[in-house]
Parts: sequence; structure tokens; C-alpha cells
Amino acid sequence: MDKHVVVIGAGFGGLAAALRARAKGYTVTLLEKGGQLGGRARVFERNGFKHDAGPTVITAPWLLEELFQLFDKDMRNYVDLKELDLWYRFIFPDGTNFDYTKDINHTLKQIEALNPSDVIGYKKILLESEKIFEIGFNQLSAKPFHNFIFMLQQVPAMIRLKAYRSVWKFISSHILNDKIRQAFSIQPLLVGGNPFDTTSIYSLIHYLERKWGIHYPMGGTGALVSAIGKLLIEEGVNVQLNREIKNIKTVANKIVALETDKLETIACDIVISNVDPVNLYKNISGYKYKKNWKIKIREKYARYSMGLFVLFFGTTKKYTQVAHHTIWLGKRYKELLNDIFYGKVLPADFSLYVHRPTATDPSFAPPDCDSFYVLSPVPNLTANINWKEEGQAYADRIVSALNKTMLPGLNKNIIDSFFMTPDDFKNDYLSQHGAGFSISPLFYQSAWFRYHNKGEGVENLYLVGAGTHPGAGLPGVLCSAKVVDSFL
Ligand SMILES: Cc1cc2nc3c(=O)[nH]c(=O)nc-3n(C[C@H](O)[C@H](O)[C@H](O)COP(=O)(O)OP(=O)(O)OC[C@H]3O[C@@H](n4cnc5c(N)ncnc54)[C@H](O)[C@@H]3O)c2cc1C
Repeated sequence: MDKHVVVIGAGFGGLAAALRARAKGYTVTLLEKGGQLGGRARVFERNGFKHDAGPTVITAPWLLEELFQLFDKDMRNYVDLKELDLWYRFIFPDGTNFDYTKDINHTLKQIEALNPSDVIGYKKILLESEKIFEIGFNQLSAKPFHNFIFMLQQVPAMIRLKAYRSVWKFISSHILNDKIRQAFSIQPLLVGGNPFDTTSIYSLIHYLERKWGIHYPMGGTGALVSAIGKLLIEEGVNVQLNREIKNIKTVANKIVALETDKLETIACDIVISNVDPVNLYKNISGYKYKKNWKIKIREKYARYSMGLFVLFFGTTKKYTQVAHHTIWLGKRYKELLNDIFYGKVLPADFSLYVHRPTATDPSFAPPDCDSFYVLSPVPNLTANINWKEEGQAYADRIVSALNKTMLPGLNKNIIDSFFMTPDDFKNDYLSQHGAGFSISPLFYQSAWFRYHNKGEGVENLYLVGAGTHPGAGLPGVLCSAKVVDSFL
């Protein structure tokens, strides 16, 4: 086939779409604004310390394996995925630890220690999340949702699954203990949603984790991106970094060419965009889309995910007692989430995700040292926060809190620290309002209401990535590429 598919953006959605288009026999060019593949999954390397910048928790690994199988290749020959036994350690403000593990009996014992009657509740959560998973993931995550009739046909199933409930309501209906409620309701934060208003469809993550486990690619998520990059080159995809698409040229109702910031014009037959959809329609595409009522309404009423403050650092000692993935919870839960999602100023307190890859993979730091990243959900750029002024003080507060709790002596042992704020998400990934995960996973921003994978206004435009159906997170964006594959 001599048709030319151009993929804009090399996040996981764009990488998967490029491979899928290539497997269909198209000539494929992948254009990326940044200097690395991976989008939010880029890698920082400084003075012997390595940091994955984004995703660290790999679920549903078969969605990645499929990309290699498209070319009769085995992912195991490219990257070594290790299944973790300890998934997350939750640390509560009173010092209580709760280990969420692959061994379900161990998890049940941990629940029992906090509140014996919640053991049954957790089993019910797993049973219900399996039902949600069967429909929400197996039947619908890789199906196109641009047809409103198809959407209406799903409504009875959504009502049966009580998709209008929030994740918090779903978890609280089965669990009484407040700590366990928090531990089992934080999952929406991994895809940019507030547990108090994210549709309970996202509770399928519980079953998804139990079914396929939680994995870590040795060498980090960057090693996974490199493995995909190697496959792209082997299969003849033309990869061009440092190319930002500035303009889309159309003739009649077809895109005919793309213009880059280097003033190149690239002719194309089909375009797959991994660009933040709001930015795509608002700034890159021509006047034609601005007249489209669906785009106008989505843009006007869009609610964005929270922003992220990510602090990266090394330590001159090893914190061997610290798990690979820790959720460090502050004193406030619902109120803090309210401040993050609806507030206009930077809250004084925080809850943190602490990533210590050196717990599994020594390649991330020099001998006898650790590498860390600490992620704090914060308001996005619709709030009035001057990150240039507040960023360093916020980083210092996080270091001080960790120094007093899970990382004693951090004040003295910390080296090579730097951070990313929502400003960087806006500048580096062209993310609208610097949101960490594009638009929020709200019920009225899901399925047909989310940006369609089939582009608006022209025949030959398709969309993948976090802002499109089914949503953010690696399983979501990999599925968005499967949806687009079904159109090619
Ligand atoms: C800190 C952090 C931690 C996370 N942790 C996890 C996790 O543990 N597990 C998980 O499953 N998910 C996690 N996520 C979510 C997950 O990383 C994202 O949802 C997913 O990677 C987004 O992929 P995407 O395809 O939407 O593309 P993105 O990663 O958003 O990449 C889009 C790319 O398009 C490029 N681009 C944009 N505009 C243009 C243009 N005009 N021209 C050319 N290129 C352009 C950008 O430079 C970027 O490289 C995390 C996210 C973050 C930020």
C-alpha cells in the first residue's frame, strides 16, 4: 500500500498507532515535537541518576505484547517485564502501613488487621469490578464511540453497572474503614480523576490489576519505550524528532499536508493525532473545525484533570526499607482533593506517590545510592499559582515532610534534585492548562462524550491518546490505538 500515514506525537498512543498502521502496510511517518520518544514517558539522566518522567506502573502488559505480535515478534526479546509482588505500600499520617500485594491472601490479612468486616467487602469489590471490567474494558474499551446510537445502546448496561456512581461511593458501599476506603479509591488519580466524581467504571482497575498483575520493565519505562522505538525502526517507520506540527492543510474535506515548525510541508493521506485534542482542534487545525458544534461544546465545557508536581532526586544512601511504589497520604483526603480539583490556590498540604525504582532495579542510581521521584497532584493552570515563585518552596516542603517520616535524613542525603510543574506540562507536551492527564475521566466526558477517535470535519483524521476514548493511562491510550486500527 503506498498511502502515507503521518502520526503526530510519540506518546504511547502515537507509538502504538504508528506500529498498527505500519502492520496494515501503510508507509508511516512519526513526528514528535520533543527530542525523545515516549511523550510523558520520557527519561531524565543526570550525574548517574536516571528517572522515568511519567508512567511507572505497567498493567495489562498484553496490550504492549500485541504490538510486537503484529510483526510476529516476541516482546520478551526486546524488554524484560518483571512482575512485582508488593504493588503499593500505603503510609497513613498516624504511621500505619498497608501493603497491597499480588498475593491476595496477604492483602486480605492486611485488610483484616485494619477492619475484619471489610474482608468480605473487598471480595465483593473484586466480584463487582469483574462485571464492570467485562463490559467497560473487554467489550467497550477498544470500540469506536463516535456513533450516538451505539452510545445509546450501551446505556442500559451502564445503568445496571451504576456507572453514574463515583468510585468513592462504590468503594464506600462495601468498605467501612476510612484508611481502606482511601487506599482502594485512589485509582482514578492515576488517570487524572477525583475519586469523588470519577465514574465507578474506573473501578475496573481493581480487577485489571488482579487479572494481569503490576509490572515493571527492567531499565524502567524508558526501556519499554526504547524497545518500541527499536521495533519502529526495524519495521521501517520513519521517525522524526524535534518536529512540531503547527498547521494542518485541508482541501475540500481531506487533510492533504502538515506543516512543521521547521517550515517543512509533509504530504499525507491519513493523519493520526496524538496531540492533546483541545489543542489539536483549537490551535493546529484550520477554521473548519471551529464551526463544528461538537468541538465547540466540548471545548467550552471541558473539565481538565489535575496538574502534577513531580520532584526528582537522588540520595547518597540507600533507603532499603522503602518499597518500589509508596502512596504517602496526608491528613486530609476529600478536602484536599477538593482543593486540588476545584481550588484556585496551592494547598499547604499534600498526599504523595513516591517512586523508588532502585528497590527493583539498581541501574537507576550509582552504587549505594537511590533514585526517587515524588509526585504530588496539584491544581492545574486554571488556578492562580505562580510556579516560578512557589515551585522551590513546595519542593522544600515535600522534602521536609519526607525527612520527618519515611525518608529520615533526606535533608542531608538528597542530591541532584529538580522538578516539573504544570507549566512544564504545558510547554513540553502542549497540554491544555498544563493538565497531567488531558480532560478528566468524568461520566459526561466518557465514551461518546469524550473526544472521538474518528476526527471531526474531515475524512482522514483519527485521534489517539489520553484525551480520546477510552481515556488516560497506558491501557487506555493503547486501546485508543486499537480503536483507530479498526478504521484503517
Ligand atoms: C507523572 C505521571 C505518572 C503516570 N503514571 C502512570 C502509570 O504509572 N501507569 C499508567 O498506565 N499511566 C500513568 N500515567 C498516565 C500515562 O502516562 C499517560 O496517560 C499516557 O502516557 C499518555 O499517552 P498519550 O498517548 O496520550 O501521549 P503523551 O504522553 O501525552 O504524548 C503526546 C506527545 O505528543 C507530542 N506533541 C504534542 N503536540 C504536538 C505537535 N503539535 N507536534 C508534534 N508533537 C506533538 C508531545 O510532545 C508528546 O510527546 C502517568 C502520567 C504522568 C504524567
